[in-house]
Amino acid sequence: MSMLGGIEAGGTKFVCGVGTGPGDLHCESFPTTTPEETVGSIIGFFERRGGGDLRAVGIGSFGPVDLDPNSAQYGYITSTPKPGWRDYDLGGSVRKALGVPVGFDTDVNAAMIGEARWGAVRGLSEALYLTIGTGVGGGALVRGRVVHGLTHPEMGHLRIPHDLTRDPYPGICPFHGDCLEGLACGPAVNARWGILGKDLPDAHPAWELEAHYVALGLVNIALTISPQRIVLGGGVMQRSHVLALVRKEFLKLLNGYIVHESITARIDEFIVPPQLEGFSGVLGSIALAEQALADSRA
Ligand code: ZN
Repeated sequence: MSMLGGIEAGGTKFVCGVGTGPGDLHCESFPTTTPEETVGSIIGFFERRGGGDLRAVGIGSFGPVDLDPNSAQYGYITSTPKPGWRDYDLGGSVRKALGVPVGFDTDVNAAMIGEARWGAVRGLSEALYLTIGTGVGGGALVRGRVVHGLTHPEMGHLRIPHDLTRDPYPGICPFHGDCLEGLACGPAVNARWGILGKDLPDAHPAWELEAHYVALGLVNIALTISPQRIVLGGGVMQRSHVLALVRKEFLKLLNGYIVHESITARIDEFIVPPQLEGFSGVLGSIALAEQALADSRA
């Protein structure tokens, strides 16, 4: 039986899976240490689980990454501040070790692809996946395909209004300070309040402020690409009351401007959590593997 592999390459862990979709997915996670050690672990996983039946592998990687197939650095993780991983040929290392075609995209594009294929966005052609966790990142589905460009979208670094009277915290992004990620990622929440986000009670004002920033980002993106649905993932969004606050704030900031019943009457179905429960990225990577296999036979 032919088998596909998926790798969600994250800054803290790599989630690897084999299978053809949610029904037969077998996963294992490995901590992200050095590239040599981490890639050694994932190659071992695929040799154990896939063996000679593995036909292709897809990778959804933390970035920035090089997605230009014509570039000498295609498949590389490029300017990451993560020690040891800068200019690392992740796609090439996996391809050489396993000898199969490798599909490569960003972690958030992979999650978007997974949700579009098997999850919350099935049947839709325009959508957004935004993750709010250690960082903030987004993947956009337009005409049924994830958007690439000169490099790839970096929605986490949108510049959003920052009311210093309400929130004097300067932001944590090393490039911009108070961009969306700088104000709204998990480490920014921890640093602003001096307490881990997971220990902040639901009633804490931290969450209204968090919802305000996330909704500012969402309004800007929604006005730009006009998604049919928005999926909000990441550790911070696992607090379900934050999702409810984001929906409310999104409507408030939009102030009735986009008149469509998907937003005005069904906001709970417009801004939704991921349906694949932590597996969006690895399943999207399986879909990338499928595409890489088809491309290799074309
Ligand atoms: Zn930034």
